[in-house]
Amino acid sequence: MCRCVDHPRAKQKGYYVFEHILVVEKHIGRYLKIGKEVVHHINGNIKDNRLKNLVVITPRKHSQLHYPEYRKNGFGFFKGQKKSVETKQGISKAKKEYWRLWRLKKKLPK
Ligand SMILES: [Zn+2]
Repeated sequence: MCRCVDHPRAKQKGYYVFEHILVVEKHIGRYLKIGKEVVHHINGNIKDNRLKNLVVITPRKHSQLHYPEYRKNGFGFFKGQKKSVETKQGISKAKKEYWRLWRLKKKLPK
């Protein structure tokens, strides 16, 4: 986590912003919309903040991504266990959404 006083998100929790959020925001060139966009770790490793492991999705899609695995085996998704078909499909959808946002960014004035 980074301490970024001028970050809109930082006003919520003592000026701290998660590293993965900063990585994505730097890449897309704008701030994420709080409550509308979240960053998901594709491989489930929340310490892996490489850009290729991060994807921007809606909170709704995010819970859809995690929920099927959560119901079956707790936090299995995070422990790197076998991903279900639903999770894999969710991830590919999330990737598409990510690239959609990425392309969108080019049209934004910044
Ligand atoms: Zn996630």
